[in-house]
Amino acid sequence: MTTEDTDTSSEKLRVLIVGGGVAALETVLALQDLAADRVEMRVLAPKSEFVYRPMTVREPFAFAGARHYPLAPIVAGAGAELIGDALVWVDPERRVVHTTGEQEIGYDALVLALGARITPRYTHALTIDDRKMDETLHGLIQDVELGYVESIAFVAPGRMAWPLPLYELALMTAGRAYDMGIDMPITIVTPEDSPLAIFGSQASEGVAELLAEAKIQEINSAYVEIPAKGEIVVNPGDRHLHVGRIVALPELYGPSVRGIPLSEHGFIRVNRFGRVADCGPIYAAGDATDFAIKQGGVSAQQADVVAESIAALAGVEIEPKPFHPLIHGMLLTYDEPRYLTAQITGGQGFSSQFGTEPTWSPVSKIAAKYLAPYLEALDRQETAA
Ligand SMILES: Cc1cc2nc3c(=O)[nH]c(=O)nc-3n(C[C@H](O)[C@H](O)[C@H](O)COP(=O)(O)OP(=O)(O)OC[C@H]3O[C@@H](n4cnc5c(N)ncnc54)[C@H](O)[C@@H]3O)c2cc1C
Repeated sequence: MTTEDTDTSSEKLRVLIVGGGVAALETVLALQDLAADRVEMRVLAPKSEFVYRPMTVREPFAFAGARHYPLAPIVAGAGAELIGDALVWVDPERRVVHTTGEQEIGYDALVLALGARITPRYTHALTIDDRKMDETLHGLIQDVELGYVESIAFVAPGRMAWPLPLYELALMTAGRAYDMGIDMPITIVTPEDSPLAIFGSQASEGVAELLAEAKIQEINSAYVEIPAKGEIVVNPGDRHLHVGRIVALPELYGPSVRGIPLSEHGFIRVNRFGRVADCGPIYAAGDATDFAIKQGGVSAQQADVVAESIAALAGVEIEPKPFHPLIHGMLLTYDEPRYLTAQITGGQGFSSQFGTEPTWSPVSKIAAKYLAPYLEALDRQETAA
């Protein structure tokens, strides 16, 4: 920490949080808890809603879809101000950000939580995009129900985006086909060494059993090209598969924020405290960072780490803890969900767990210390009303 970072004045630390997703909201709620009287928070986000992205996988099956929460009350409730605008670039020297609305906004600490960019990897596949999940996949599921689809492959490109949705979509499609009495081969082709390998061996074995029960074939350690509609080339081995339809995960790219050091593919390079090197009090959390696993729960943990560092910067007596990812995954299937947990080290899970009972609370797709109970309470209030 440099001397310029240590604010010992009685003034509140001006914290600017860029983004309106999991990482941004978790940062706001964590800072409200840790340092409410020492920080003045502003949230810069272009959209007026927070969308609960993991539940979009249910939409093509006509199950209840993802909830949309207005951002304004969440942000205001945490004592922060919402600015409806988007970041364009950062000037770390002057400690200001520039926006699309041509505003110049100053900060004492900046949190970049603006997510990743979704980019289709294959021209000849339907690419999963949660902003239009139903629009993209509803027609396919209808065709499955009508028996028009001969076979489907669910494919992940070499750089995996979020791990769960590919498996969830495959399992739900298999369940729907079974319900309709349709026998349709389904294959998952991924670069992972085993199914959902990041969750460790025990969870991976559990998922493999689930896939076997659903008669889903898995091709692992596979690097895929799709040269034409219905044609998959699997490498190593130059194996050619012919399938009726292909559904692919996108590739994720970082937000390529101008003005700060970036790592490969535009992601923001952070240290174990979520800090961006060599540009003053700038932090980042979530899918925007260069941490290899893109997951809502991981984003929230990174945000908690950042919040502790900023609380310390604001003068709170706290020893910020570094990032030690623990991932929880709720895998949706056609019937009851399965729960996966792993402590991550070196990109692989260990002390892996798998079962029908959750090991975390509140039970939610996105396990987050502050955001999960907050949303649970909100949902409960609305149900009661
Ligand atoms: C289909 C699907 C299923 C998933 N399932 C799970 C799951 O089961 N469990 C799990 O933990 N995770 C899951 N994930 C992953 C999880 O949703 C992401 O990891 C998480 O949303 C990342 O949070 P984030 O805040 O970093 O980014 P995002 O959620 O992408 O939020 C980024 C925010 O930044 C804003 N923004 C973008 N550009 C700018 C800008 N220039 N200026 C200001 N703001 C900007 C956006 O509007 C948005 O509000 C899933 C994702 C998908 C798509």
